[in-house]
Amino acid sequence: MNLDDYTKAGKIASEVREIARNKDWVGKTLYEICETVESEIKSRGGSCAFPVNASLNEIAAHYTAEPNDPKILSSADLIKIDLGVHINGYIADTAVSVSYDPESAILVEAAEAALKAAMGIVKQGTKSSEIGKTIQKTVMQYNLKPIGNLSGHSLEQFTIHAGKSIPNMWSIGSFSLSTKEAYACEPFVTTSKGLGFVREGKTKNIFGLVSRKKTKNDNANRLADFIWENFNTLPFALRWITKSFDEKEARASLEELIKNKIVRAYPVLNEAAGQRVAQAEHTFIPTESGALVTTL
Ligand code: MN
Ligand code: MN
Repeated sequence: MNLDDYTKAGKIASEVREIARNKDWVGKTLYEICETVESEIKSRGGSCAFPVNASLNEIAAHYTAEPNDPKILSSADLIKIDLGVHINGYIADTAVSVSYDPESAILVEAAEAALKAAMGIVKQGTKSSEIGKTIQKTVMQYNLKPIGNLSGHSLEQFTIHAGKSIPNMWSIGSFSLSTKEAYACEPFVTTSKGLGFVREGKTKNIFGLVSRKKTKNDNANRLADFIWENFNTLPFALRWITKSFDEKEARASLEELIKNKIVRAYPVLNEAAGQRVAQAEHTFIPTESGALVTTL
Protein backbone atom coordinates (compact mmCIF):
# COMPACT_ATOMS: atom_id res chain seq x y z
CA MET A 1 0.00 0.00 0.00
CA ASN A 2 1.42 3.36 -1.03
CA LEU A 3 -1.14 6.01 -0.12
CA ASP A 4 0.84 8.81 -1.74
CA ASP A 5 1.01 7.13 -5.16
CA TYR A 6 -2.63 5.98 -4.94
CA THR A 7 -3.62 9.59 -4.21
CA LYS A 8 -1.53 11.01 -7.07
CA ALA A 9 -2.93 8.47 -9.55
CA GLY A 10 -6.46 9.21 -8.33
CA LYS A 11 -6.12 12.96 -8.79
CA ILE A 12 -4.91 12.56 -12.38
CA ALA A 13 -7.62 9.99 -13.14
CA SER A 14 -10.42 12.21 -11.84
CA GLU A 15 -9.17 15.28 -13.74
CA VAL A 16 -8.98 13.33 -16.98
CA ARG A 17 -12.38 11.68 -16.38
CA GLU A 18 -13.97 15.12 -16.03
CA ILE A 19 -12.39 16.20 -19.32
CA ALA A 20 -13.82 13.04 -20.89
CA ARG A 21 -17.25 13.80 -19.41
CA ASN A 22 -17.42 17.40 -20.59
CA LYS A 23 -15.90 17.19 -24.05
CA ASP A 24 -18.22 16.90 -27.05
CA TRP A 25 -16.94 13.73 -28.72
CA VAL A 26 -19.65 13.57 -31.43
CA GLY A 27 -18.00 13.27 -34.84
CA LYS A 28 -14.71 12.04 -33.38
CA THR A 29 -13.38 8.56 -34.11
CA LEU A 30 -12.92 6.03 -31.31
CA TYR A 31 -9.21 6.17 -32.15
CA GLU A 32 -9.13 9.94 -31.50
CA ILE A 33 -11.13 9.54 -28.28
CA CYS A 34 -8.86 6.85 -26.80
CA GLU A 35 -5.64 8.58 -27.87
CA THR A 36 -6.81 11.97 -26.56
CA VAL A 37 -7.75 10.60 -23.15
CA GLU A 38 -4.48 8.67 -22.89
CA SER A 39 -2.43 11.73 -23.81
CA GLU A 40 -4.23 13.73 -21.08
CA ILE A 41 -3.11 11.05 -18.58
CA LYS A 42 0.51 11.16 -19.77
CA SER A 43 0.68 14.97 -19.90
CA ARG A 44 -0.14 14.98 -16.15
CA GLY A 45 2.72 12.60 -15.37
CA GLY A 46 0.60 9.45 -15.09
CA SER A 47 1.02 6.14 -16.87
CA CYS A 48 -1.92 4.29 -18.42
CA ALA A 49 -2.86 1.29 -16.27
CA PHE A 50 -4.78 -0.14 -19.25
CA PRO A 51 -5.91 1.08 -22.68
CA VAL A 52 -8.75 3.58 -22.39
CA ASN A 53 -11.99 1.66 -22.93
CA ALA A 54 -14.44 3.41 -25.25
CA SER A 55 -17.39 1.02 -25.22
CA LEU A 56 -20.50 2.04 -27.16
CA ASN A 57 -24.16 1.30 -26.39
CA GLU A 58 -24.73 -2.44 -25.77
CA ILE A 59 -20.99 -3.07 -25.34
CA ALA A 60 -20.61 -2.92 -21.57
CA ALA A 61 -16.82 -3.04 -21.39
CA HIS A 62 -13.44 -4.00 -22.86
CA TYR A 63 -13.56 -2.23 -26.20
CA THR A 64 -10.57 -0.07 -27.03
CA ALA A 65 -9.78 1.52 -30.40
CA GLU A 66 -7.95 -0.52 -33.02
CA PRO A 67 -4.99 1.19 -34.74
CA ASN A 68 -6.65 4.05 -36.69
CA ASP A 69 -10.11 2.79 -35.64
CA PRO A 70 -12.46 4.68 -38.02
CA LYS A 71 -15.69 4.20 -36.02
CA ILE A 72 -17.25 7.65 -35.46
CA LEU A 73 -19.26 8.58 -32.37
CA SER A 74 -22.76 9.72 -33.34
CA SER A 75 -25.28 11.94 -31.53
CA ALA A 76 -27.41 8.82 -30.88
CA ASP A 77 -24.69 6.96 -28.97
CA LEU A 78 -24.06 6.23 -25.32
CA ILE A 79 -20.33 5.92 -24.63
CA LYS A 80 -18.58 4.54 -21.56
CA ILE A 81 -15.07 5.92 -21.10
CA ASP A 82 -13.17 3.82 -18.59
CA LEU A 83 -9.64 4.90 -17.78
CA GLY A 84 -6.82 3.73 -15.54
CA VAL A 85 -3.84 5.69 -14.26
CA HIS A 86 -0.89 4.29 -12.38
CA ILE A 87 1.99 5.81 -10.48
CA ASN A 88 4.67 3.17 -9.81
CA GLY A 89 2.01 0.49 -10.34
CA TYR A 90 -0.51 1.98 -7.87
CA ILE A 91 -3.71 2.26 -9.85
CA ALA A 92 -6.69 4.57 -10.05
CA ASP A 93 -9.55 3.03 -12.06
CA THR A 94 -12.49 5.29 -12.92
CA ALA A 95 -15.21 5.53 -15.55
CA VAL A 96 -17.86 7.87 -16.84
CA SER A 97 -20.77 7.32 -19.22
CA VAL A 98 -21.95 10.03 -21.57
CA SER A 99 -25.27 9.73 -23.35
CA TYR A 100 -25.77 11.98 -26.34
CA ASP A 101 -29.20 10.36 -26.74
CA PRO A 102 -31.59 11.88 -24.12
CA GLU A 103 -33.50 8.58 -23.84
CA SER A 104 -30.45 6.77 -22.46
CA ALA A 105 -29.60 9.52 -19.98
CA ILE A 106 -31.56 7.71 -17.25
CA LEU A 107 -29.09 4.79 -17.44
CA VAL A 108 -26.22 7.17 -16.76
CA GLU A 109 -28.14 8.80 -13.89
CA ALA A 110 -28.86 5.41 -12.29
CA ALA A 111 -25.24 4.22 -12.59
CA GLU A 112 -24.01 7.45 -10.95
CA ALA A 113 -26.64 7.22 -8.19
CA ALA A 114 -25.74 3.58 -7.48
CA LEU A 115 -22.04 4.45 -7.25
CA LYS A 116 -22.81 7.36 -4.93
CA ALA A 117 -24.97 5.17 -2.69
CA ALA A 118 -22.21 2.54 -2.55
CA MET A 119 -19.56 5.14 -1.69
CA GLY A 120 -21.87 6.29 1.12
CA ILE A 121 -21.72 2.94 2.95
CA VAL A 122 -18.12 1.80 2.44
CA LYS A 123 -15.72 1.79 5.39
CA GLN A 124 -13.50 -0.69 7.17
CA GLY A 125 -15.47 -3.90 7.70
CA THR A 126 -18.29 -3.22 5.21
CA LYS A 127 -19.40 -6.52 3.70
CA SER A 128 -19.10 -6.78 -0.08
CA SER A 129 -22.60 -8.28 -0.21
CA GLU A 130 -23.95 -5.08 1.41
CA ILE A 131 -22.39 -3.03 -1.38
CA GLY A 132 -24.03 -5.27 -3.97
CA LYS A 133 -27.37 -4.96 -2.21
CA THR A 134 -27.11 -1.15 -2.11
CA ILE A 135 -26.24 -0.94 -5.81
CA GLN A 136 -29.08 -3.27 -6.79
CA LYS A 137 -31.64 -1.44 -4.65
CA THR A 138 -30.65 1.94 -6.09
CA VAL A 139 -30.77 0.72 -9.70
CA MET A 140 -34.16 -0.96 -9.18
CA GLN A 141 -35.60 2.33 -7.91
CA TYR A 142 -35.10 3.56 -11.48
CA ASN A 143 -36.94 0.48 -12.82
CA LEU A 144 -33.65 -0.58 -14.44
CA LYS A 145 -31.36 -3.61 -14.00
CA PRO A 146 -27.80 -3.95 -12.72
CA ILE A 147 -25.44 -6.19 -14.69
CA GLY A 148 -24.99 -9.16 -12.39
CA ASN A 149 -21.89 -10.73 -13.87
CA LEU A 150 -19.73 -7.60 -13.91
CA SER A 151 -18.24 -6.41 -10.67
CA GLY A 152 -15.75 -4.14 -8.98
CA HIS A 153 -12.50 -5.55 -7.66
CA SER A 154 -9.59 -5.26 -5.28
CA LEU A 155 -6.42 -3.66 -6.64
CA GLU A 156 -2.77 -4.41 -5.99
CA GLN A 157 0.45 -2.90 -7.32
CA PHE A 158 0.53 -3.60 -11.08
CA THR A 159 -2.60 -5.78 -10.74
CA ILE A 160 -6.00 -4.40 -11.67
CA HIS A 161 -8.14 -7.40 -10.76
CA ALA A 162 -6.45 -8.62 -7.59
CA GLY A 163 -8.88 -11.40 -6.72
CA LYS A 164 -11.75 -9.98 -4.67
CA SER A 165 -15.03 -8.98 -6.29
CA ILE A 166 -17.34 -6.12 -5.33
CA PRO A 167 -20.70 -7.27 -6.67
CA ASN A 168 -23.33 -5.14 -8.38
CA MET A 169 -26.18 -7.10 -6.82
CA TRP A 170 -26.86 -9.13 -3.73
CA SER A 171 -24.78 -12.31 -3.86
CA ILE A 172 -23.76 -15.27 -1.74
CA GLY A 173 -20.24 -15.20 -0.39
CA SER A 174 -18.79 -12.04 1.01
CA PHE A 175 -15.65 -10.46 2.38
CA SER A 176 -15.13 -7.43 4.59
CA LEU A 177 -13.35 -4.30 3.34
CA SER A 178 -9.88 -3.66 4.75
CA THR A 179 -8.06 -0.36 5.27
CA LYS A 180 -4.96 -2.06 3.86
CA GLU A 181 -6.43 -2.55 0.40
CA ALA A 182 -7.68 -0.43 -2.51
CA TYR A 183 -10.87 -1.33 -4.36
CA ALA A 184 -12.77 -0.27 -7.46
CA CYS A 185 -16.57 -0.12 -7.35
CA GLU A 186 -18.29 -0.04 -10.74
CA PRO A 187 -22.05 -0.38 -11.13
CA PHE A 188 -23.24 -1.25 -14.64
CA VAL A 189 -26.89 -0.58 -15.48
CA THR A 190 -29.10 -1.72 -18.33
CA THR A 191 -32.77 -1.27 -19.27
CA SER A 192 -35.67 -3.35 -17.93
CA LYS A 193 -35.66 -5.18 -21.29
CA GLY A 194 -32.05 -6.23 -20.79
CA LEU A 195 -31.15 -9.65 -19.45
CA GLY A 196 -28.91 -8.05 -16.83
CA PHE A 197 -25.78 -9.97 -17.72
CA VAL A 198 -23.04 -9.76 -20.36
CA ARG A 199 -21.73 -12.32 -22.83
CA GLU A 200 -18.30 -12.37 -24.43
CA GLY A 201 -18.27 -11.01 -28.00
CA LYS A 202 -15.96 -11.99 -30.87
CA THR A 203 -13.91 -8.80 -30.86
CA LYS A 204 -10.72 -8.88 -28.82
CA ASN A 205 -8.59 -5.75 -28.76
CA ILE A 206 -7.22 -5.67 -25.21
CA PHE A 207 -4.35 -7.99 -24.28
CA GLY A 208 -2.13 -8.82 -21.34
CA LEU A 209 1.15 -10.69 -20.83
CA VAL A 210 0.71 -13.82 -18.70
CA SER A 211 4.01 -15.68 -19.18
CA ARG A 212 7.67 -14.94 -19.92
CA LYS A 213 8.40 -18.24 -21.66
CA LYS A 214 10.06 -18.14 -25.10
CA THR A 215 8.63 -19.30 -28.43
CA LYS A 216 10.57 -20.55 -31.47
CA ASN A 217 9.58 -17.37 -33.29
CA ASP A 218 12.14 -14.52 -32.93
CA ASN A 219 9.66 -11.79 -33.88
CA ALA A 220 7.19 -13.02 -31.26
CA ASN A 221 9.94 -13.13 -28.62
CA ARG A 222 10.98 -9.58 -29.49
CA LEU A 223 7.40 -8.40 -29.12
CA ALA A 224 7.05 -10.21 -25.76
CA ASP A 225 10.19 -8.42 -24.51
CA PHE A 226 8.78 -5.08 -25.67
CA ILE A 227 5.48 -5.76 -23.87
CA TRP A 228 7.27 -6.75 -20.65
CA GLU A 229 9.50 -3.68 -20.70
CA ASN A 230 6.71 -1.23 -21.51
CA PHE A 231 3.51 -2.58 -19.94
CA ASN A 232 4.69 -5.20 -17.44
CA THR A 233 1.66 -7.48 -16.87
CA LEU A 234 -0.83 -4.63 -17.28
CA PRO A 235 -3.29 -4.73 -20.20
CA PHE A 236 -2.26 -3.16 -23.52
CA ALA A 237 -3.71 -2.40 -26.96
CA LEU A 238 -2.39 -3.19 -30.42
CA ARG A 239 -2.24 0.55 -31.19
CA TRP A 240 0.35 0.89 -28.38
CA ILE A 241 2.57 -1.58 -30.23
CA THR A 242 2.14 -0.31 -33.77
CA LYS A 243 3.86 2.93 -32.72
CA SER A 244 7.08 0.84 -32.61
CA PHE A 245 6.33 -2.21 -34.81
CA ASP A 246 4.95 -2.66 -38.32
CA GLU A 247 1.21 -3.41 -37.93
CA LYS A 248 1.15 -6.57 -40.06
CA GLU A 249 4.18 -8.01 -38.31
CA ALA A 250 2.81 -7.02 -34.89
CA ARG A 251 -0.53 -8.73 -35.58
CA ALA A 252 1.24 -11.94 -36.63
CA SER A 253 3.55 -11.90 -33.60
CA LEU A 254 0.64 -11.18 -31.26
CA GLU A 255 -1.29 -14.15 -32.72
CA GLU A 256 1.75 -16.34 -32.08
CA LEU A 257 1.98 -15.14 -28.46
CA ILE A 258 -1.74 -15.78 -27.90
CA LYS A 259 -1.46 -19.26 -29.45
CA ASN A 260 1.43 -20.06 -27.09
CA LYS A 261 -0.53 -18.73 -24.09
CA ILE A 262 2.09 -16.04 -23.43
CA VAL A 263 -0.46 -13.30 -24.06
CA ARG A 264 -4.11 -13.38 -23.08
CA ALA A 265 -6.78 -11.62 -25.21
CA TYR A 266 -9.81 -10.09 -23.47
CA PRO A 267 -13.06 -10.24 -25.46
CA VAL A 268 -15.54 -7.35 -25.49
CA LEU A 269 -18.50 -7.86 -23.16
CA ASN A 270 -21.97 -7.30 -24.64
CA GLU A 271 -25.30 -7.00 -22.84
CA ALA A 272 -26.95 -10.36 -23.51
CA ALA A 273 -30.18 -8.91 -24.99
CA GLY A 274 -28.35 -6.15 -26.88
CA GLN A 275 -29.64 -3.43 -24.54
CA ARG A 276 -27.65 -0.32 -23.76
CA VAL A 277 -25.43 -0.21 -20.70
CA ALA A 278 -24.11 2.66 -18.57
CA GLN A 279 -21.29 2.47 -16.03
CA ALA A 280 -19.80 4.64 -13.30
CA GLU A 281 -16.66 3.81 -11.33
CA HIS A 282 -14.49 5.03 -8.47
CA THR A 283 -11.39 3.69 -6.72
CA PHE A 284 -11.35 3.93 -2.93
CA ILE A 285 -9.40 2.94 0.16
CA PRO A 286 -11.54 2.26 3.24
CA THR A 287 -10.86 4.10 6.48
CA GLU A 288 -12.25 3.48 9.96
CA SER A 289 -15.04 5.99 9.45
CA GLY A 290 -15.58 5.97 5.66
CA ALA A 291 -13.29 5.86 2.67
CA LEU A 292 -10.71 7.86 0.80
CA VAL A 293 -12.22 7.94 -2.69
CA THR A 294 -9.05 8.54 -4.68
CA THR A 295 -10.91 9.34 -7.93
CA LEU A 296 -13.56 11.66 -6.46
MN1 MN B 1 -12.47 0.68 -14.99
MN1 MN C 1 -12.47 -1.55 -12.71
